[in-house]
Amino acid sequence: MSGSFKKFIRTVTLVDLIKGLALTGGVWVRSIVTPKHVLVTRQYPEEKRPSFPNFKGHHGFLLKEDGSLKCVGCGICAGVCPAKAIRVYTEEGKDHEKVVTGYEVDAFRCIYCGFCEEACPKDAIILTRLYELADYDNREQYRWKMDRLIEVGKKRPLFRDEVKL
Ligand code: SF4
Ligand code: SF4
Repeated sequence: MSGSFKKFIRTVTLVDLIKGLALTGGVWVRSIVTPKHVLVTRQYPEEKRPSFPNFKGHHGFLLKEDGSLKCVGCGICAGVCPAKAIRVYTEEGKDHEKVVTGYEVDAFRCIYCGFCEEACPKDAIILTRLYELADYDNREQYRWKMDRLIEVGKKRPLFRDEVKL
């Protein structure tokens, strides 16, 4: 029997249509009897899934136990960043020491590679598992400044509602 004849027979006997309806009907019945085993679409944001342990999300800035910055303003993170997403602002202190006055991550430029975290000699910057990064506001909202980074670093949240941003 040639291929085109077989196709013709299948078409006139509605085999494919019946198979499709049987599959759909089976899933429909199972969705009523055992819904958890059938529904694959997660109902985000009501039902959130934590990111995997090695996920690299929103940056966080870490502090020492006394609350002072771990960051010494060396700029290594900014130097290794392939996306040029980091800016470190420093000033000269009273005793000619370097004082960190600002830190900024451009979330639009960042590719979340984690090089900054790996390179930091003071373990001052981390990439947390927070993946809910969207904001309604303008682009400025995506330049994450020191206060925001410290807040995320303190809480290391998995989800956005665990931190005030
Ligand atoms: S975060 Fe780390 S690497 Fe970056 S400036 Fe501060 S101490 Fe240096
Ligand atoms: S994660 Fe990578 S791209 Fe993003 S700021 Fe750090 S080094 Fe730059």
